Amino acid sequence: FTVAIVGRPNVGKSTLFNRLIGRALALVDDVPGSTRDRREGDAKLGDLTFRVIDTAGLDAAEPGTVEEKMQHQTALALESADAILFLMDARAGVTPLDRHFADRLRRARQPVILVANKAENIRGAAEAGEAFVLGLGEPVLISAEHGEGMAELFDALAPLAAKSGGDDEMASADAP
Ligand code: GDP
Repeated sequence: FTVAIVGRPNVGKSTLFNRLIGRALALVDDVPGSTRDRREGDAKLGDLTFRVIDTAGLDAAEPGTVEEKMQHQTALALESADAILFLMDARAGVTPLDRHFADRLRRARQPVILVANKAENIRGAAEAGEAFVLGLGEPVLISAEHGEGMAELFDALAPLAAKSGGDDEMASADAP
């Protein structure tokens, strides 16, 4: 089960990635030929284990406009992931770039979980209402930096992992 984290620059993709893989940064693979593009690692959330892809490298390293980088980021996610975590910034609210991303992701064949990060000290109702315009359902409110909302993120991901064959497939998939 592979999950890709996408979203505009600075919403907290890398922070969430680091939290999901724990402190075992040494386990992060540099994907040959695309080290600037993404980082992959083994994530753990509750009793769920899965592969996670951080597409944030694109923000800084790729040439082109933010929209072009986002297109590339989204294409990468769509070709390699079973599910997508679409991060937005709960404090900033919905921006035009978020809408741009959402337009593309609504047509994805994979399930997309809308995640509103930086939601520490935020009660939720107003932000959830605004985020609804993205057409991706209600956001899961988290704080990647403070580790809040991880149980809710688990609740959103667990059924998808189970559907795609369970979370123990990773080890057997690596076997010859
Ligand atoms: P990325 O560009 O999407 O990968 O975003 P980063 O992970 O680099 O984070 C961008 C900035 O947001 C950094 O300064 C982080 O410390 C900050 N940040 C990330 N998560 C949170 C959070 O949950 N709450 C707050 N307040 N800041 C956060």
